[in-house]
Amino acid sequence: MTVRAITVERAGGPELLQETEIPDPVPGPGELLVETAFVGVNFIETYQRSGVYPVDYPFIPGSEASGTVVAVGEGVSGFEPGDRVTTCEGKAAYAERFVVPAVAAARVPDGLGLDVAAALPLQGITAHYLSTSASHPQPGDTVIVHAGAGGVGLLLTQLLAARGIRVFTTVSTPEKRELSLGAGAEQVLRYESFADKARELTDGAGVAVVYDGVGKRTFDDSLRALRVRGEMVLFGGASGQVPPFDLQRLNSGGSLSITRPSIGHFLLTPEERAWRYGELFDAVTGGGLDVRVGERFPLAEAGRAHEALEGRATTGKVILEA
Ligand code: NDP
Repeated sequence: MTVRAITVERAGGPELLQETEIPDPVPGPGELLVETAFVGVNFIETYQRSGVYPVDYPFIPGSEASGTVVAVGEGVSGFEPGDRVTTCEGKAAYAERFVVPAVAAARVPDGLGLDVAAALPLQGITAHYLSTSASHPQPGDTVIVHAGAGGVGLLLTQLLAARGIRVFTTVSTPEKRELSLGAGAEQVLRYESFADKARELTDGAGVAVVYDGVGKRTFDDSLRALRVRGEMVLFGGASGQVPPFDLQRLNSGGSLSITRPSIGHFLLTPEERAWRYGELFDAVTGGGLDVRVGERFPLAEAGRAHEALEGRATTGKVILEA
């Protein structure tokens, strides 16, 4: 038996995401085979497709997807065929079926749609670890979240605002501004002037944390916007990767600290996974966290999804329907 998958034969543009037939994946020991319902599209897949992050080609992208378990590998306990699951640690998930280690799968709560379940894990866990573990803002502190109407941006803004942290965001369009305000941003700033404006709005002090997933374009001004002993959390490069920089700038900026975190390092144990998924699912099912699915594309049109994401044409989460 074969299944449809999206394969990239070599590094390049979104047009290289082509539909192919692949052998039905087989779950190894400790793994689940899942019939895909929806796939979460993430920036990392654009970096892998374009060659910014090295991968072996031919390559089937995708780590985040939801669906129904169809088979379990040797030694799996706690899951059986028919279970609804989601993950951000699957393999080759741009496909009608994918494999995931059972330890990295989360059971989807009753009442939560599989579309939202596919939209939440990667950006939700990122927003969760960025705000709880990679930085230390306190209630009353002011922070900046770049790309405030993006997938991570909308979730991170909500999680921070719910803790009494003042959130300033940047966005590029009036529609995105409205979405960001709706998520709890106190101020929505322009990319051109956010550092000066943030300082002005904090009586000259600067902000406690900058969450920067835009990277190359915003990095310098992000450092400039920080208060003394502020934290720079560089977590992506939607506008390009940040080139090497002079560490002395952390000193002259006011004993700043900087981190360049990655989601995998914040899902280290079953307990850590259970904590992050548990808090996110509770927040979503309890109505305290809104997951915006902005754009949906058929699996076969993954190339259009990448184009939209890279072209800044999306809000919230982009998903593919298998
Ligand atoms: P988004 O939905 O936030 O999309 C990216 C947004 O970045 C765009 O919509 C756009 O918003 C903004 N942007 C600014 N400049 C550019 C540019 N030149 N090209 C494209 N976009 C630009 O994506 P995600 O929420 O999926 O990811 C956000 C960032 O987080 C990415 O850098 C991603 O790599 C990173 N990430 C990092 C993780 C980690 O663990 N380190 C995990 C998950 C994501 P606007 O138009 O408003 O400027």
